[in-house]
Order: sequence, then C-alpha cells, then structure tokens
Amino acid sequence: MDSLFSEEELAAATSDPGARIEALRREIEHHTYLYYVQDAPEISDAAFDSLMRELIALEQAHPEFMDPSSPSQRVGGAVGDQFSAVRHEQRMYSLDNAMDFDELDAWMTRIQEYFGRFVPVVCELKIDGSSIALTYEGGRLVRAATRGDGTTGEDVTVNMRTVRDVPLRLRDEGLRGLVNPANAVELRGEVYMPKRSFEALNAAAEAEGKAGFANPRNAAAGSLRQKDAKITSMRDLSTFIYSVGDARALQAGTQWDLLQWLREAGFHVNPDVRLCTEPGEVRAFCEECLERRDALPYDIDGVVVKVNEFALQDDMGYTARAPRWAIAYKFPPEEKTTLLRDITVQVGRTGALTPVAELEPVTVAGSVVARATLHNEDEVRRKDVRIGDTVIVHKAGDVIPEIVGPVLSLRPEGATPWEMPATCPSCGSPVVRDEVEVVIRCESIDCPAQATERLKHWGSRNAMDIEGLGDEIVGRLVESGLVADVADFYHLTEFDLATLDMGRVKQDGEPVRLGEVMAKKLLASIQESKGRSFARVLFGLGMRHVGRTTAEAIVQGFPSMEALRAATEEQLANVDGVGGVIAKSVVAFLNTPDNIQVIDRLARHGVSMAAETTGDELPQTLAGLTFVLTGSLVQSGMTRTEAGDLLKARGAKVSGSVSKKTSYVIAGEAAGSKYDKAVSLGVPVLDEAAFLQIVETGEVPE
Ligand code: AMP
Repeated sequence: MDSLFSEEELAAATSDPGARIEALRREIEHHTYLYYVQDAPEISDAAFDSLMRELIALEQAHPEFMDPSSPSQRVGGAVGDQFSAVRHEQRMYSLDNAMDFDELDAWMTRIQEYFGRFVPVVCELKIDGSSIALTYEGGRLVRAATRGDGTTGEDVTVNMRTVRDVPLRLRDEGLRGLVNPANAVELRGEVYMPKRSFEALNAAAEAEGKAGFANPRNAAAGSLRQKDAKITSMRDLSTFIYSVGDARALQAGTQWDLLQWLREAGFHVNPDVRLCTEPGEVRAFCEECLERRDALPYDIDGVVVKVNEFALQDDMGYTARAPRWAIAYKFPPEEKTTLLRDITVQVGRTGALTPVAELEPVTVAGSVVARATLHNEDEVRRKDVRIGDTVIVHKAGDVIPEIVGPVLSLRPEGATPWEMPATCPSCGSPVVRDEVEVVIRCESIDCPAQATERLKHWGSRNAMDIEGLGDEIVGRLVESGLVADVADFYHLTEFDLATLDMGRVKQDGEPVRLGEVMAKKLLASIQESKGRSFARVLFGLGMRHVGRTTAEAIVQGFPSMEALRAATEEQLANVDGVGGVIAKSVVAFLNTPDNIQVIDRLARHGVSMAAETTGDELPQTLAGLTFVLTGSLVQSGMTRTEAGDLLKARGAKVSGSVSKKTSYVIAGEAAGSKYDKAVSLGVPVLDEAAFLQIVETGEVPE
C-alpha cells in the first residue's frame, strides 16, 4: 500500500500500534473537519484515503483498539428491526411562530416591556430539516436521537455516525468549555439535505421507476431513518447545530457564546447568524434572509429569534409547547399558478366523497404539487374552479397545498361549473348528502373503495403500523379476493403473499409477483401487529369520529372489548374526551353484526382486545430512588446513558448532579467531583459490581 509515512513512522506504528492508531484518528478527524465543516480541505482526497486505509488496516490487525468513535466507523451498519425509543432528558420543544412582522414586533415589545429594556437577541436561519439531538459523554458521541413527540424520540446513533460533519469526538477546545467533560452533554440541531443532492436523489429514483421524496426535508428525515445505515452513509446529509439540552453543562452564558463554543467543539454552525442589540436589526436580518433564500444551497422556512442571555431565557421559561424566549418568524407563503387538468373524486373509508384537483405539477414552497384536495362540493362551488382553469396554488412551508382560486381572465371558453357525480365512482351506488357533516357519501357497505381505505387505515402508522402494507399491496390483495376485511390479513399465508400478482408483467410476459422475501417480511409485520395496544386496535377499526386520541380516551373508561361492548351510549358519553356523537357512532358500530363478526375473528387470531396490564414492564422496585452516575463503567462497557436507562426501567430517577436528595451515587472508574460531593454529603456510594447486581435483581444490595 502507498504510504505517506517515513520508514521510522512505520516502524513506530509496528512498535506502538495504539499510539499510531490514535495519531491517525486525530489526523483524519482534523481533515474531515476541514473538509465538511470548514469547507477548506488541506490535503487531497487521495492522501485522505491513504490515511484512512492505513487506519483500517491497523485496526483490523489490532482489534483490541477498536472504538465506535473511530472515523473508520462512519460506514454504517444494520440498525435492527426497529429504532429503539429514547426519552429526552430535556424536552425537545417546538417553536411559536410569528406569521408576519407585526407578530414579531408584538413578541419583542412584550419582552421589552417586561424587562424594561430591549434585550439582545440572536437571529438564526430556520433550517427546514429534521431535528436531531446528539449526546456526548466524555467528549464522545454516544447517542443520536430524533425529536419524535418531543418527549420520546428514536435512536438513530448508527445512522448519524455516518454524517460526516458530526464530530464523533469533540475537539479539545470544546472539551475545555464544558463544566465537566466526563458528563453527558446534549447538543441539538437540524439534519438537512442540500437542495441539489435532493434533486439528484430524486432523479436517480425516477430513473429506477421509484417514487422520490416530496421535498428535501422528507428526504433528510427518510435518509436518516434507514434500517440499513449504509444507505444513510451514501446520502448527502449535513447538519447545523444550534442549541444545547441543558446549558448548565457549558461555561457559556449566552446563545451567542454557545454558537462560538459549538464551532470550537467541531460542530457545523450556520454562518448566517446575527447578534442584534436593537429591534430594527432583527427585521433587517429577516428581510435579507428572505431575499437570499432561493440562493442558499439548502431550504429554510424562516428566521428563529432567540433571547441571547440564558439567565433571561430561564426567567421567561416555556409554554406547554414552546420556549417563550424564542420565536420563529415564518416567511410569507409562496403562491404559483398552474393548470387544473381535472377534478377527480376519492372515496374515503367512511364513504365520504372528496373532490381532488389534478394539477399540472408545479413546485411551490420547495415541493412539487400535483394534487390538492378541494374538500367538498360546496368548496368547489365557492371557489368556482373549473376543469381547464389556471388556478393559484398556495403553500406555506410544510402546510398542505391549497387551491386559492381561478385566474378568471385565463378561463377557457365553455368551461362549465363542476358537479359531484350522482353515483359513487367506485361502486356505482347512488350517493347521499349527509346534511350534518356537509359531505356526500356512498352508503353502500360493499363499496370496494371504502373497503380498500379501511384496510389501508388498519395497517397505517398510527393504527396497527404494519410495515410493507402499502397502497399497492392492499389494492392487489383486495383485487385478488384474498382480503375483504381486516381480519382477513391474519389468514394470509406465505404462499398467498409470495405468489400475489402485482398486476404488472415482466419483459418476458410473466406476471410480477410479490416474491418470497417481501412475503416473509410482510407476514412478520402482520404477526407483530397482534401485539399492538387495544387503543390502536380501536382506532384501526375505523369507527367514524374515533381518532387516535379518542380511542385512547375510550380505553381509559373501558379497557377491554368486552367492557366496551357492554357499555351504553350514555356510559360512553360520560368518559372524559368522549361526547355524545362519538358514543353514538361507537355503539352503532359495535351493534352491527358484520363488525362483531370481524372483531371476533380478530380476537381469535390473537389481536389484542384489552389494554395491557403492563405485562412486559419490569417491577418498579427502584421507584422513589434517585441515582447519580459518575466515572466509567469499565466492567460492563456501558455508557452512563445506557446504565441510566436500565435504572429508569425499574422506576428510578437518574440525575446529573449530587444533592442531599440523591439516594445513591454509582461510581465507576476515575470518578470525579461527584464522588467527592457524595462523600461530603454522606450519600452512599456504590461500585459497578453493585450496580450490575441492582440491574440484575432490581434490589440495592446491603
Ligand atoms: P416547528 O417544528 O415549526 O415548531 O419548528 C421548530 C423546529 O425548528 C425545531 O424543532 C427545530 O428542529 C427547527 N429549527 C430549525 N432551525 C432552528 C434554529 N436555528 N433554532 C431552533 N430551531 C430550529
């Protein structure tokens, strides 16, 4: 192999491979940083590859030095079947929006009045990507998690390691800025895909006849959540990091200092930031960004304005949803005109007919729009859109596209007002106007479109979450007569699925079939769905008015199907979160013989018909105890986050600092100041062996 190194260096490598490996890692980290973060490479790609080849060769020869933080580990690997759930130590909040300058000014004025002066704020670009939380312990990346619902996200560590501008180890300057480098610190930011990479990815997908992503944000989120992280590693993902979970971990006292620290620690920090000391500067910054928006290589959807000082941020605190000390100024929505080619009618799972605008595809606010719902017949009338019209399409960031109305001067001659068909486009039954809900409905119980929608709904993410049960497969299953109701999914065999005719033919004229591999996977997902919660089952059944939240509420009052079937309308309506309309719909559904027959068959297949009695949860023997972890757990090789999770699983609280309220401190090797503090406060200290015993037995040893 070519080498950049002298004979002596190579000799040194043989005599002290550990030192050589560390030197190579540092060198590679440095060049990765220069290339991906600073955009200022100092060595050629070939020289870089050569360093990497040597590192990989040495690591293979000396597996005892293997380290997940090594730059050689950025290649990705399998994630396993599911991303595991991660509870965020500090909640990941959303942001409140200011839709125009008046709202932004109002927000600033309130703060000014409260503090009696204009408080400096930091303006940052609002990157339109996917939020990410990166946890470092002892300066090493140990976990990456998505935001999820803000409280619990998904563990995407393996995937994030492949993103080249994420430091696997913090730079030394960064470590020096931490209050305690051994402690966990969580940094937050955004993963995004540059616009050009998004376009290239979609072009490649199209060339293979596959569906692309709707916009760069979905492409980033989708690439991140690949079960095979090798795929993630091949996608061009980048990050901008801009916040910290708990600012007390840092010496920084302001957002501006935090950004500086992030740069020093090796993170990619967006260069377009401004510290504003008077209100006019904020607006000027927003206007500049709006002007430059299209020229930026990535999507932004606004400007985030944050109170600079952490102490003032603490004073202001949070609402249930968002910090009070920050606001997102959203750019005005985009509008485009395009041709309305047709208005089609979709039949939903409850039989409601929805008119849909079929448009000449057009890019609005960063994504391609080809269809838009027109909601109902009245809406089409009110807007007076007609087939052949040039229409205005409006889209604000991630909001669903909307038809504003026609450009009347461009209306072709002879365009006639649109009318809802008198019969169902799927089954041909006459349609009925539902006066209460202002919808037109197909009431036939045999309508295939409704059946297909109900079946799709059962497998959907918030219901039974059956992976692989996409629109196409459901359509084929219905068409082939294999599935007519949701219980039929559980009768399917591998043979049924493997031989399923996909309705297309290969070049040799043979029909395309689903095949054994996909069949096995799908069957496994179907089996797995039997373990979903009773609330999901209720939601999945698709009763009218029963959304996911309502289903949860029903389960609170009636935790089993048996109890629910025995409930009267009145009893149901008394449950918190369930009103008269919902109660009526549920009782009607559960008194329909066809539905009962499906429910009984589902139950016979083992689909859950009662709320879990915390079956697989560990006994909460550590409830009421607070643990603090310090030092490294060398025997088990666990990170402190992993160790903390095991304690939490048994009901314990895990805290980052020792106080009189701490029940026990668990001290691994090289424990630091927390150990001393525990001793001085008289808090009992346990070693790793004792910790392992707790995890094993659930009891704290004497
Ligand atoms: P939203 O989801 O619209 O409520 O906006 C909140 C999200 O904006 C956060 O969760 C972040 O993921 C994202 N975001 C993008 N850029 C920034 C930034 N510079 N500061 C804070 N949040 C940002």
